[in-house]
Amino acid sequence: MIENQFKIKRIKVTDEEKREIALYYLEKHSIPVDLDAYLKMEIFEDFLEMKCVKCDYSEDIDLDVISDLYELGDDPYPVLSCDKCGHKRKSGYLVPLEIYNAKKK
Ligand SMILES: [Zn+2]
Repeated sequence: MIENQFKIKRIKVTDEEKREIALYYLEKHSIPVDLDAYLKMEIFEDFLEMKCVKCDYSEDIDLDVISDLYELGDDPYPVLSCDKCGHKRKSGYLVPLEIYNAKKK
């Protein structure tokens, strides 16, 4: 499990984001959400900080997105191409912060 290998950032979903999610369900799926009740709930999302080994750009990536990619591949750790410098594997890419730090030592 990816959660056991890397340090996960657990970020609380803001009321603003909850309003957007509620609106999304209503508009896309016609599911009405009890907004008052929903706003009272504490909801968290997990992120993994990824950093580019080439340009040092870093970004918190939704853990769901990373787990899906990671579990399908055969890499020892999650790897993403970098949005900032556009580099893909072998030349520069986003890796988990711990891997980045180990590589830069
Ligand atoms: Zn980069």
